[in-house]
Amino acid sequence: MTINNQPERKKIQHDERPNMRMLTRKELGEHLAALGEPAYRATQLHRWLYSNQTLDFEEMSTFGKQLRQKLASAWSIRPASIASSESEAREADAAIDIQTAKFLIRLEDGELVESVLIPSEERMTACISSQVGCPLRCAFCATGQMGFRRNLATSEITDQAFLLDAEALKRHGRGLSNIVFMGMGEPLLNLDNVFESIGTLTEQDYRFSISEKKITISTVGLPAEMERIARSGLKTKLAVSLHSADQSVRERMMPVALDVPLDKLAKAISICNTITGQPVTLVYMLLEGVNDSPEDARKLARFAKSVLCKINLIDYNSIVTLKFESGCSSSKTMFIQRLLDAGLPVTVRKSQGAAINAACGQLATRTVRK
Ligand code: SF4
Repeated sequence: MTINNQPERKKIQHDERPNMRMLTRKELGEHLAALGEPAYRATQLHRWLYSNQTLDFEEMSTFGKQLRQKLASAWSIRPASIASSESEAREADAAIDIQTAKFLIRLEDGELVESVLIPSEERMTACISSQVGCPLRCAFCATGQMGFRRNLATSEITDQAFLLDAEALKRHGRGLSNIVFMGMGEPLLNLDNVFESIGTLTEQDYRFSISEKKITISTVGLPAEMERIARSGLKTKLAVSLHSADQSVRERMMPVALDVPLDKLAKAISICNTITGQPVTLVYMLLEGVNDSPEDARKLARFAKSVLCKINLIDYNSIVTLKFESGCSSSKTMFIQRLLDAGLPVTVRKSQGAAINAACGQLATRTVRK
């Protein structure tokens, strides 16, 4: 494991001007309109900020000098930055240069979130955060133990992708191929900003551009917001963290299940299936003695058969303050076999990043330990 702390940035005089990157696209347009500028200027300004990623209004050569000066006198441009990083090289992977790396991202107000770069031979995936902390308090999740601090602004979401793309190019010679909203927070509780960030990340002629189909949004299963995504026309994929198809077990693991019982969740998934024609991925984390029995497999199979879905089994990564254990390999084999026998499509995700607390459920571990 390696840890890199970025050198402390030189002390600069505190900039009193507000940060233009905290404005939404709509607000950028409103601000320019208030200055008497035509609507197309907003498109140009957005491109300068998020395609060129300029930090200096003087570089905005499509604007006249007067407008550049007006903007510079009122605003600064301060993107999120990497505060530190940790890398994990698994022995078996060292030869093919596969290193999972976790980045601590410093935000506008000094808050920190975590993003994880997960390289594999076929993909270069960024796992990004949507909230500082999370209000949903899933029992197995380090972020949930932090409590909720705030939603991320649109630019704070896009900046994680830009920063990890640059790191991927530097470390591996190839940029991001996939983005998953599976970092800190519940993306569906910050859906306006998640939507806008996806709009920016998929702008076709921007310097960084990724296909909607390469983006996965993960949720604990919030019906109204799931339907909103389905109706949005986005081609992004949806992953629902199920973790148990037994109502009382799920309630113990995920308090949100008290409000969204399994029948309501199945109905929400079916509505998404009908609108998009696409399957939803059911994410199921095997926990020893909690949800890994033959009966649990049977209940999962029954739930999965009631909707259009794929199942993704993942390992639990231990968090020192929490009391769960990953399912043992024999129960995992039995579990997988039962699902396959039921004719269900199952993938098993190998855990990456556990040594640096970058794996599923581990983000924010250090904060919790403190
Ligand atoms: S698993 Fe996701 S939704 Fe649950 S507490 Fe953690 S970040 Fe929030």
